[in-house]
Amino acid sequence: MKKESSSGDSITFLGTAGARFMVAKQLAASGGLWLSLGGTEILVDPGPGSIVQSTKRKLMGDKLSAIILSHRHLDHSADVNVMIEAMTRGGFNKNGWLFAPSDALDTEPVIYSYLKSYLEGIEVLEEGKSYHVGDVSFSTPVRHIHPVETYGILFKTAEHAFAYIADTRYFDGLCRSYAGELLIINVVLLEARQSIDHLSMPDVERIISELKPRVAILTHFGMNVWRKRPGEIARRMSQQTGVKVLAARDGMKFDLSQLDYG
Ligand SMILES: [Zn+2]
Repeated sequence: MKKESSSGDSITFLGTAGARFMVAKQLAASGGLWLSLGGTEILVDPGPGSIVQSTKRKLMGDKLSAIILSHRHLDHSADVNVMIEAMTRGGFNKNGWLFAPSDALDTEPVIYSYLKSYLEGIEVLEEGKSYHVGDVSFSTPVRHIHPVETYGILFKTAEHAFAYIADTRYFDGLCRSYAGELLIINVVLLEARQSIDHLSMPDVERIISELKPRVAILTHFGMNVWRKRPGEIARRMSQQTGVKVLAARDGMKFDLSQLDYG
């Protein structure tokens, strides 16, 4: 019998800008990732403009089951409050969960206190823990090296496993944590810079060569990457690694059924 096709798992890139200059000038959008996984909708890292980018693409906040913040930096969390309002219909419909590291919630919370009661609950992300939203499970295998508490995320659905490698400096053990059919990697830098805790293109090439996913998608570009054209860089990296490497574009929708062929 023919295998049933994927239940419509997809990832929509509501932005591809990373770090402050790209975001401040909105040279690319910065709305995060919208995951639609077997009917469960999850928003990851709603940076500035997430509400604009999502509604523009007919992705409605009240369909969300959860919002996940990899970390508290502005380019990942600026629209979290308005997205909570959207998810809960302004608080009239208690709905959805927020997942975030403790330092996004404790001393200087990134969400307004009056919004907390709108949510079904808040769960604190910690290293090595697993979580569930509907039929989707995800884990935060390792704490990243970044100026604030940061986690990447490994997602598992009935049919697919994929990883989101959020902001981090490269470190031994990063690769070990993120095997999957698909890797989404935030890559801000063209070349490694000692003083900046972000991945560079050489780091990413090393990660892709080691993990050999079916597909890797680069996103969250800094200014120098942007100037060198992410699509060109991805094309060269595909040739170097033998892995299909794509550069995300604003509004790009990646259907996870693409992982099932070839
Ligand atoms: Zn950051």
